[in-house]
Amino acid sequence: MDAAEFRRRGKEMVDYVADYLENIEKRPVYPDLEPGYLRSLIPNEAPLEPESYEDIIKDVERVIMPGVTHWHSPYFFAYFPAASSYPAMVADMLCGAIGCIGFSWAASPACTELETVMLDWLGKMLQLPECFIAGTHGRGGGVIQGTASEATLISLLAARCKAVRRVQTINAKKSESEILSKLVAYTSDQAHSSVERAALIGAVMMRKVPTDNRYAVRREMLKKMVEEDKAAGLIPFYFCATLGTTPSCAFDHLTELGPLCNEENMWMHIDAAYAGSAFICPEFRPLLNGVEFADSFNFNPHKWLLVNFDYMTAAIHWQIPLGRRFRSLKMWFVFRMYGLKGLQAHIRKQVALAKEFESLVRADKRFEICAEVVLGLVCFRLKGSNELNQELLKRITKSREIHLVPCQLSGRFVLRFAICARTTESHHIQQAWQHITQLTFELLQEASH
Ligand code: PLP
Repeated sequence: MDAAEFRRRGKEMVDYVADYLENIEKRPVYPDLEPGYLRSLIPNEAPLEPESYEDIIKDVERVIMPGVTHWHSPYFFAYFPAASSYPAMVADMLCGAIGCIGFSWAASPACTELETVMLDWLGKMLQLPECFIAGTHGRGGGVIQGTASEATLISLLAARCKAVRRVQTINAKKSESEILSKLVAYTSDQAHSSVERAALIGAVMMRKVPTDNRYAVRREMLKKMVEEDKAAGLIPFYFCATLGTTPSCAFDHLTELGPLCNEENMWMHIDAAYAGSAFICPEFRPLLNGVEFADSFNFNPHKWLLVNFDYMTAAIHWQIPLGRRFRSLKMWFVFRMYGLKGLQAHIRKQVALAKEFESLVRADKRFEICAEVVLGLVCFRLKGSNELNQELLKRITKSREIHLVPCQLSGRFVLRFAICARTTESHHIQQAWQHITQLTFELLQEASH
């Protein structure tokens, strides 16, 4: 492909993408396939001779699209959102074209500097304390990681290193391995599995803190565990708080937990993967109060801030890979084309849609709401057995008209309805609910016979 063909194919691809996204709701949101479907559709080996672009693009509809779960369909309500916007896609093209590996300032000054400034913009949007801002002389600052999992791992490794140094300044004879075997980290029993994985990779113990009836960690419970562990000769060194847990979007009580972590010399990391984007709205910012006690904080603009994957920010200056893509370009384009007001409007609209869905559920006495609806996630279930709810979800998934995933809350099988796509509107919510109630009607009719 030379430059002339690239111009032509590039424009065609932009048209294909715009058509795909404009008409996405006509496609079944969830594929109708069995695992292993793809292997039989393409050769077992890479081609020896070059193939034509036309043949490849034909195979996109034949091979790829039938196997796509359409995350940007307005009928996609599963997991948490994957952000997407046209400015981010355009910036991603430019990022690919520049194609630098920005591992140092000299390797790409613009890549290095724009990231620092964009992370400051973001920190200011979230009203993070001054110590999180790089500024011109700051010691804080943010860095773009690929995922929240990486950010949590990095924070844990940094905390581990700090804890070893601290113990060795008091007792220089203690070996690193001796100290490591005594370190203990904590997180909520509602935390994402990536937090536990970070402890496994970091080779330290991790204890799960039981949550209250709103699925939040409280000071007293963490304190009790820390005291027990200290009495047993262990060294508590790290607590990962969650703001917006994956199952139910619950919020740990930072203002209680932060001072405890500071008193105990424990690093407090905050994982706000999904909920973090909402803190750009003043009405949701109080949920972040207590961040001033934290050592590090991460959230995923690629979940809810209209910046396409992969894009995760962690307010610590560290990363595992040497190379870095020029990902801050996406942020620069999105922030400038939406403005803070546009981004706030996006968050508020999606929260309002979640509230609309919540009202529909509450008005139907066959259903119950299972956790407080704070942002864009509604946890609900049919009053009745777990099996009944499992069967309802099975039918929803099989219908392929809407897509949801479940969670477990207090041992109960619960359906999660997350507002995901940028293009979801009220009529999609109404239609989704109509579909759920229709399937429920059929299910209950069958169950009563
Ligand atoms: N933390 C929380 C609270 C999450 O909800 C998720 C994913 O949904 C993650 C971490 C993992 O995110 P990532 O895929 O960016 O590692």
